Amino acid sequence: MSQSITLPPLPFSDNALDPVISANTLSFHYGKHHKAYVDNLNKLIAGTPLEGQSLEKIILESAGKADKVGVFNNSAQVWNHTFFWNSLKPGSGRTPPAALAQRIERDFGSFDNLKKELATAATTQFGSGWAWLVEENGKLLVTKTGNADLPMAKGQKALLTIDVWEHAYYLDYQNRRPDYANAVIDQLLNWQFAAENLGV
Ligand code: MN
Repeated sequence: MSQSITLPPLPFSDNALDPVISANTLSFHYGKHHKAYVDNLNKLIAGTPLEGQSLEKIILESAGKADKVGVFNNSAQVWNHTFFWNSLKPGSGRTPPAALAQRIERDFGSFDNLKKELATAATTQFGSGWAWLVEENGKLLVTKTGNADLPMAKGQKALLTIDVWEHAYYLDYQNRRPDYANAVIDQLLNWQFAAENLGV
């Protein structure tokens, strides 16, 4: 039997992000939404050549293919959510390590400018999607993607992400997406993880 895609454990306890993200939100977001993407993906690839492949390979093999939209959406959402949990760290330093800070100053002018760009991307993404810090051609950029779409499908390296689907914040913030985005940016983003992804 081929290996199936599994739901990775959360990198923190279920109340560790409270009050920015409540344990209640996390229980639905991780235990229901993230898990459903894993379960749906395993059903979709069972008995196909994609069964047993790595998650990254499944995403890249299905990206942009009209007959594999379901596989792409579910595989990308599995990856996006795992990456999102790792983008958050309770009690994180709230400032980037020095080598990353230098790159941020070079490409955004200041750390505050980067945080403003992230908040704008998270707030202005129309409908469901994601705000990202990415590296493309050696430069740091803030981007946003709709639904399941993700930087790897555009040749970009993801450094951090913020989930802006309503399920990420509605129980805690109702329609106040900017409040959610700013709280995550100010209190939870894991800048050490971003530096590791950048390789600095
Ligand atoms: Mn989500």
